[in-house]
Amino acid sequence: MSHLMPTYARADLAFERGEGAWLVSTTGERYLDCHCGVAVNALGHAHPALVEALRAQAEKVWHVSNLFRVPAAERLAARLCEASFADMVFFCNSGAEAMEGAIKVARKYHAANGQPERVRIITFEGAFHGRTLATLAAGGQKKYLEGFGPPVEGFDQVPYGDLDAVEKAIGPETAAILVEAVQGEGGVRVGTPQFLRGLRDLCDAHGLMLVFDEVQTGMGRTGTLFAHQGVGVTPDVMGLAKALGGGFPIGAVLCTAEAGKGMTPGTHGSTFGGNPLAVAAGNAVLDVMLADGFLEAAQRRGLLLKQRLAEVSDRHPAVFREVRGAGLLLGLACVVPNDRVIAAFRDEKLLAVAAGDNVVRILPPLIVDETEIAEAVTRIDRAATRLERAAGAAQGAAPKLEGLKG
Ligand SMILES: *Cc1c(COP(=O)(O)O)cnc(C)c1O
Repeated sequence: MSHLMPTYARADLAFERGEGAWLVSTTGERYLDCHCGVAVNALGHAHPALVEALRAQAEKVWHVSNLFRVPAAERLAARLCEASFADMVFFCNSGAEAMEGAIKVARKYHAANGQPERVRIITFEGAFHGRTLATLAAGGQKKYLEGFGPPVEGFDQVPYGDLDAVEKAIGPETAAILVEAVQGEGGVRVGTPQFLRGLRDLCDAHGLMLVFDEVQTGMGRTGTLFAHQGVGVTPDVMGLAKALGGGFPIGAVLCTAEAGKGMTPGTHGSTFGGNPLAVAAGNAVLDVMLADGFLEAAQRRGLLLKQRLAEVSDRHPAVFREVRGAGLLLGLACVVPNDRVIAAFRDEKLLAVAAGDNVVRILPPLIVDETEIAEAVTRIDRAATRLERAAGAAQGAAPKLEGLKG
């Protein structure tokens, strides 16, 4: 009997250690990790550079608070800005916290401009921005809001991909548009470049902040360091977390100097945010990701895996509908319930994650190699064959029962 609050339906499986794209269970079995702790372990498990960075920092100082300078946090912020549109960074500890911060930056910008009434934010159906009260209201999913009191005010939801609906939703109180370049939790729904560029144009025309939630898409997941770079759209504000620390909890809000002009001393804070351990992990992740050829290699492997998954999907139309995604943020849209598909994958010692729209996310670490991709595809193919046989057997049995009844 576990004393953990039962908010998760956990698989009865625990891991002892990991190596690259592999996790070893407490019973000694090796699992191919296409889950990555929900898109977090972008450099796989026990990456030597990350292990060494944390070990070295652990021997020096863990935490000092943000009332003192943290040189490695200044360095990580400078590097993130150098690699993006941003001029400043606020560090926090999770994705939801990053998005809370991003929402605050967007609202404060208008207050600093003498328009404090501009607080409303346009968000999209199927979005996921976290589990705090404001990010739940932004995501707008009824099942997550139920029983937690009145949703935080100020979010207007429109269908994802619908520029006309966005334009109609803009009013005198609108402050920002908040969007995921690819809806991860929502079912690996990829925003088209026209849609995302259209949002930029609407923001420019109406003086709105364009906020990208890159908590899942950021840090190389879609093949560029940030997903918006792949579609040539520049936001004003961006939230990061998941892969930023390679498994160590750290989140960040990035913005331009203009967007962040209201964020003066005392306007926001976090006790743990950007502590020496977290930023040591973040700097180590960047060392690897910014090395020559790293992102290009991840992009190539993403294309290869997507191609192979499309072949598997075509071979098993009774199990899969289609393959979607960008880079190594891939989704298999399923015909059979996605939890059954994930269980069948697990029987083949492959880990994957569920998403909305009956999708199974395939999220290997960015360091996955071609042999491991081939192995993943073989296991997925085998699991699909077994699911088909099970479905066939169930269908074959049905007429017999009918016959008995008659
Ligand atoms: C995971 C996720 C979040 C929330 O991150 P937490 O660290 O769980 O709070 C927010 N936005 C997106 C797009 C995510 O994928």
